Amino acid sequence: MLIKKRHDIKCPSCGKIFERELWNIVDKRVSPEVVKQIMDGEFNNIVCNSCNTKFHCEVPFLYQDLERKLIVTVLPETMREGGEELKKKLIDAQKISGLSEDINRQVFFGINTFVRFLDQIENESEEI
Ligand SMILES: [Zn+2]
Repeated sequence: MLIKKRHDIKCPSCGKIFERELWNIVDKRVSPEVVKQIMDGEFNNIVCNSCNTKFHCEVPFLYQDLERKLIVTVLPETMREGGEELKKKLIDAQKISGLSEDINRQVFFGINTFVRFLDQIENESEEI
């Protein structure tokens, strides 16, 4: 699977369309610096090369923390409507993809709900 994927991104300010590589899969073990970016709210923040506007780009991505046996699908906030069915489909699809049964699969809509979840589990482990 691709770790990064090319996307056509439209600047919300000047409307210019340009191409960027964005994370498709974030693996905590492989890219701990990206996990920090997510928690700091810097993940997928893009600067337009035409007007220098900084904005957040929401694209779906997969987050893996295999130490915790955790696989999270993070979908754009805009997909939340009617998302419960999509969520169920995604979890079912992951189940039949041959991953082991004891994996904790989660689906979140919007990066902010995911960050809250990540904050929680990361802080829990510090107390142990
Ligand atoms: Zn722009």
